[in-house]
Amino acid sequence: MSDCLFCRIAKREIPADVVLEREDVLAFRDVNPQAPTHVLVIPKEHVPSLAALDERHDRMLASLVGAVNEVARQDGVADGYRTVTNVGPAAGQSVEHLHLHVLGGRSFGWPPG
Ligand code: AMP
Repeated sequence: MSDCLFCRIAKREIPADVVLEREDVLAFRDVNPQAPTHVLVIPKEHVPSLAALDERHDRMLASLVGAVNEVARQDGVADGYRTVTNVGPAAGQSVEHLHLHVLGGRSFGWPPG
């Protein structure tokens, strides 16, 4: 997907504050942070959202979730953080490339807005 923003970040065509890279996954700081730690963890492969995953993605998914934990450890928030993924416009998804938000460093309310 040559015009996908996060594909372009994954290919390093657009700069980002990258905090972790694995073979199939990249993590970078959100440009509009909603918490002291706000990192996006994405697959390098274009997947539009969680709803598009199937069993072919199992290995990548394990890597993605492992990277979330690693990012939280790196940022010192492993004892309390939130991970969110928005699926579709009703949930607020604004970039159509699967990403897990990793939010930490402050308290969070429930239910989310
Ligand atoms: P969502 O609304 O769940 O699709 O999340 C998309 C997120 O991407 C938002 O939190 C944006 O602030 C973030 N974002 C958009 N463009 C960039 C960018 N170039 N670098 C880092 N984060 C971005």
